Amino acid sequence: RLKEGRALALDVWSIFSATNLPADCINLGQGYMNFAPPTWITAAAEDALKSVAPNHYSHPRGRIRLREALKAFYSPQFHRDLDVESEILVTSGANEGQYSVFTAFLEHGDEVIMFEPFFDQYLPSVTFNGGKPVYVPLHPPSFSTIKPTSDDWTIDFDELRAAVTSRTKIIIVNTPHNPVGKVFTKNELEAIAAIAEEFNLLVMADEVYDCLVFDGKEHIRIANLPGMWDRTVTVGSAGKAFAATGWRIGWLIAPPSIIQPTLAASTRIIFCTNSPLQEAAACGLEQAKERHFFEIQRSEYDARRAVLSQTFDALGLKYTLPEGSYFILLDISKVKFPDDYPFPPSVLGRGRDFKACWFIAIEIGVSSIPVSEFYCEEHANIGEAYARFAFCKDLDTLHRAAERFQRLR
Ligand code: GLN
Repeated sequence: RLKEGRALALDVWSIFSATNLPADCINLGQGYMNFAPPTWITAAAEDALKSVAPNHYSHPRGRIRLREALKAFYSPQFHRDLDVESEILVTSGANEGQYSVFTAFLEHGDEVIMFEPFFDQYLPSVTFNGGKPVYVPLHPPSFSTIKPTSDDWTIDFDELRAAVTSRTKIIIVNTPHNPVGKVFTKNELEAIAAIAEEFNLLVMADEVYDCLVFDGKEHIRIANLPGMWDRTVTVGSAGKAFAATGWRIGWLIAPPSIIQPTLAASTRIIFCTNSPLQEAAACGLEQAKERHFFEIQRSEYDARRAVLSQTFDALGLKYTLPEGSYFILLDISKVKFPDDYPFPPSVLGRGRDFKACWFIAIEIGVSSIPVSEFYCEEHANIGEAYARFAFCKDLDTLHRAAERFQRLR
């Protein structure tokens, strides 16, 4: 075996996949919607399939219509005139874009700092490319915090500074954060930026939930802080933006010094991204503004978030109110289940949260994702206190889940 350990273990998405659970279990596990993208967007994909060029290879940088749409949409947000030839790269989902950055930049033994909990995919993406993940805690809200929000998950900047070594090459900043929902503040981003500058680090800004920020919070792009454009790659996702997670369309925005080597890696990994759906993503970005698409979508998600938060409030269950993303962390440390419950082998031998989530899925009828998966093995016990519920579902489904939660009391 060339590679072993956590990176090649069965992933949490497969264990808690809807196909492994009873058909009537309400799926609030893996973060995907139970509704389709808007028809004005899917119509563009249908048109693309009926014409010749978009059925064939696209340029490895991405189809020009999508790159032009990304330029028009993002240039004002980055306060610069983005260049479609050298500063924008279309990728097969955000995952592949990030993987290609690691392939392009990591030498064997280079270290990548990530805040823990971290989106699980970062770990294998780093180690498969010879890198070493280094974890800096997001400290959970203290036990005495009555109604914690994602803002109560905090960074100790001395710990961040202490994590940097001569081998540190990249720091991942995921805001809004999966699974916590934390929207990093300007102060936090400035402190991270100062460390990135001091130690000459590349910043991977995973901002795939940028369109989902609540409670008047502002999504701040670290690339826009003084001096940061040159060392930051910002990651975006059509899946999150347009309720189309299966399209596998994402993008990177960065200076040419980052895009060019990443393009070389991406070209050798996938050559190019699927073409027809790039036309659809382009259509979505082209028309989003005039349709007020993201404002409407945000208020829909706000209402979805409220169904779960109000349900947990009414039941006296403790959770973290997320200020961004579409995930909510429920404290499951008090959920009881019989030790001899018939857990499947994939769940036995994993943390307490795997068992609690499985038990809740089978007995309460709502699936979720155990949060220890977002921690390294050494710190997994911290994550065992939480289950992550996704609220990217229609209101009817969330109300049905709310009814079932009554039995969690
Ligand atoms: N990003 C999604 C989530 O966190 C799905 C990730 C995946 O399936 N790899 O739920």
